[in-house]
Amino acid sequence: MGLLKESSFYKLVRKNIEKIREQGETPRTDLSAFDSMDKYVCDLCRASVDRSGLIQCSFCGRWVCRNDCFDRDDVSCLNCHGVIRLLRESRKMDILSKKKAVLLDERKTALREEMMYQKKRGELEKKRKMDEIEFENKKLELERNKSLQDMEANIMPQDSGRGVLKAIRKIKKMKNSDNAGNNNG
Ligand SMILES: [Zn+2]
Ligand SMILES: [Zn+2]
Repeated sequence: MGLLKESSFYKLVRKNIEKIREQGETPRTDLSAFDSMDKYVCDLCRASVDRSGLIQCSFCGRWVCRNDCFDRDDVSCLNCHGVIRLLRESRKMDILSKKKAVLLDERKTALREEMMYQKKRGELEKKRKMDEIEFENKKLELERNKSLQDMEANIMPQDSGRGVLKAIRKIKKMKNSDNAGNNNG
């Protein structure tokens, strides 16, 4: 955890804690004690404590029992320690729920991308099939045209050849009979 995050967290802590005393302000003397000069009142549990048994909370400024009303880890009185713990928990929850939200978002995005990909793939597949069908149709058409042309090409010379041959034969026959008649007189 970075220093910046920690300090912003403690700013949040200070915002949520009510200041009871200023730093350096003297603790409350216990007026009921015989030797009131050396007895003070804990601002939390109201016990009568020696000056050395007291410590000031750096957050709220309370003077509290060093042993019973102070948390060493948070360097705070138990009251502020409770606030800090709550804020810490809620921050953890915040981070967790933010992480969860980010994860959910990422999953949604991935799902959306997957769906888009599948859709695009489907479209491409469809287009490919259409292209294939079109290509087959064109091929068939070309083949049909070609075979028609071939048939025509085959038939025409055969037919015309046959016709021409027939005509030639007919003409030859006629010429022969003409010549025979002429010769015979
Ligand atoms: Zn106390
Ligand atoms: Zn405190």
